[in-house]
Amino acid sequence: MEQFKIEHDRPGCIGCGACAAVAPRFWTMDPVDGKSDLVGAKKTEESGEIVKEEMSIDDKNYEANMNAAQSCPVNVIHIIDVKENKKLI
Ligand code: SF4
Repeated sequence: MEQFKIEHDRPGCIGCGACAAVAPRFWTMDPVDGKSDLVGAKKTEESGEIVKEEMSIDDKNYEANMNAAQSCPVNVIHIIDVKENKKLI
């Protein structure tokens, strides 16, 4: 089982591009609405809008995504330690 889970509260994203600059393997910018997307994530939609993106990662992908989360000026990227059941950011 992967140790960490990333959650992106996408509606709050202001499209600053920091996460995609810091961790481009995981984060890209959507040219249509200007918000970021977590590549390969499970997307939850409500009324046609993506309200959440979630993806599990293991430790080797932790640092890049923690850097992305720390770079987010509006704190809409969260990382949960699944084994410890603890929100790290
Ligand atoms: S750093 Fe935050 S606000 Fe900026 S594009 Fe990424 S998720 Fe959106």
